[in-house]
Amino acid sequence: MGKVAINIATGSLLQQDIIVGIDLGTTNSLIAIVKTDTHEPIALREIDGLTLVPSIVHFDAFGNVTVGNPARELLVKEPERTIYSAKRLMGKTYTDVGSDSSFFAYNIIDDGTEAMVKVQVGNQFYSPTELSSYILKELKKRAEHILKTTVSKAVITVPAYFNDAQRQATRDAGRLAGLDVLRIINEPTAASLAYGIGLKGHYEKTIAVYDLGGGTFDISILAINNGIFEVLATNGDTYLGGDDMDNLLARYWQEDAGTGNTALGLGSSTDKSLTQQLRITAEAAKKHLTDNEVYEGEINGTPVRITREEFSDLITPLIERTLTACKNALKDASMQPAQIDAVVMVGGSTRVPAVKAAVKAFFGREVHDKLNPDEVVALGAAVQADILAGNNTEMLLLDVTPLSLGIETMGGLMDVLIPRNSKIPTKAGRQYTTQKDGQSGMRISVFQGERDLVSDNRKLAELNLTGIPAMPAGLPKVEVTFLLDADGILKVSATELRSGVAQSIEVKPQYGLSDEEVEKMLLDSLTHAKEDIQLRALVEATTEAQQMLDTTVKFLKKHGEAISEIEATTTEGKMKELTQAMDAKDKNLIQQLTEQLNEISRPFAERIMDSALKDAMRGKSIV
Ligand code: ADP
Ligand code: MG
Repeated sequence: MGKVAINIATGSLLQQDIIVGIDLGTTNSLIAIVKTDTHEPIALREIDGLTLVPSIVHFDAFGNVTVGNPARELLVKEPERTIYSAKRLMGKTYTDVGSDSSFFAYNIIDDGTEAMVKVQVGNQFYSPTELSSYILKELKKRAEHILKTTVSKAVITVPAYFNDAQRQATRDAGRLAGLDVLRIINEPTAASLAYGIGLKGHYEKTIAVYDLGGGTFDISILAINNGIFEVLATNGDTYLGGDDMDNLLARYWQEDAGTGNTALGLGSSTDKSLTQQLRITAEAAKKHLTDNEVYEGEINGTPVRITREEFSDLITPLIERTLTACKNALKDASMQPAQIDAVVMVGGSTRVPAVKAAVKAFFGREVHDKLNPDEVVALGAAVQADILAGNNTEMLLLDVTPLSLGIETMGGLMDVLIPRNSKIPTKAGRQYTTQKDGQSGMRISVFQGERDLVSDNRKLAELNLTGIPAMPAGLPKVEVTFLLDADGILKVSATELRSGVAQSIEVKPQYGLSDEEVEKMLLDSLTHAKEDIQLRALVEATTEAQQMLDTTVKFLKKHGEAISEIEATTTEGKMKELTQAMDAKDKNLIQQLTEQLNEISRPFAERIMDSALKDAMRGKSIV
């Protein structure tokens, strides 16, 4: 494929444009490029010197959106309107989030179904994809301001443990922000690339990437073989990071230790602004102790003090927890610490001297820490972008598939199994289920393209899986696998796992498709990104509403006697409203009413626990 770039604003084709690398972080996000003259990756600094954009989005009552530091300042004042850590929700269902939802100060909608989570702010519903897209838009805007050119292509990083759905959600966020996402790469891979590890492509190495950020800890063990990164093991703790250090220090001061004055009573106060100030001061102290032996400051006139040694003692349990995770990761990879050839430090919290010392001692070697640990992931993403742009001749470019491959799901939506730019050979699989009781057949339609509706994509093949034994809707487990071999031949197979019925087919996706046609398909996906994603959201909301309606109807039929007349009337009224909203194609109203119907009917279901009914709500159905 030739080098053709697309100007998002005009839709015209440009000759050459820049590909940026983006670290879409839980706490902070950042954009980087490789300089054309020196070939060195650099983070794009804002004119005001701030290079990190806090991954926080604020919505005011009028629908205005602010991102980054200004949003961060509203965290305490308007917690229900200020969304942080949206990355933790990416590609997740309500059940995935589960008990973690208490971590969030804002409203995460839980209707007990297997649908993707949404965040409610006032009367509006936002998907994590949309929330992330606001952060990406902000980064894009800054980059365009600094570079004085349109930025439309990006490589975005994700944690190594992200699954398909989470990676797809990240891709969609990019697309929604007007970015052509050339590739999604793993954060530890990016960090290694930033240090040039794996770039020469001729040696084998085993790398440990230790990433301690604001709220998460990840350890990844990677093997590099001829320029290909393989994840051998990942481990970590999704609720462990620099924020926990701040909290420990805040509590230490609250309990009057280190203030040298027990009468000041910081501990008894429940004052919100004081709590906030404590936390801000604690973070400042922590950072100060990275380069100094003592911190001395004051909070509300109360002097506070802590030495580096005291702070190290305080956080020892946290560090120990990260080392336990390292041990487990090594065990999963069947390795000893001494077998690791290089250790890469990532994340702002690895600046803490006690953390660095502990990691060095654990692996028994020096660590890579010369690059700014906040920036290293974005820098590596920029290196990958440079490779994709064909500028890095030291790196061999592997064969990739130019267009996404997927199947049609409910409402005519495209469900991508192999995203475009995936290295081939590759394999992907996903489970689906039936929509109707006793459904004995399932049609699996295979499509290629980037649009959200299959009708806008290119149909490759159709597979009919027949002979599924009669089961209630939602019970069959149909596993669809895509195997794209090195010659670009796609083998699609479908197996109903409970009964073993299977069917398969082979196609050649690139057959009869010219480069120009591929480019046109890519261009179309960008020019239609916004409407496509809105349409997808509407189809998903409608599908979810329909499931809720079906379940309620089924329930009323079966257990009508278990509910009172008033309950029945309210339920039917709400169902009617919902049906009308579906006819009117009002996405927000559909979501609101589905949520309300769920609120009304949940108590009934709790009264009569019917597992078959619950099962009926599980899984994505095809057609
Ligand atoms: P994430 O990957 O979660 O987005 P980052 O890698 O940006 O997070 O790390 C943010 C964390 O790093 C915060 O807890 C911040 O307080 C901490 N941090 C930043 N600079 C320093 C420093 N100089 N010393 C200690 N901790 C730091
Ligand atoms: Mg990070």
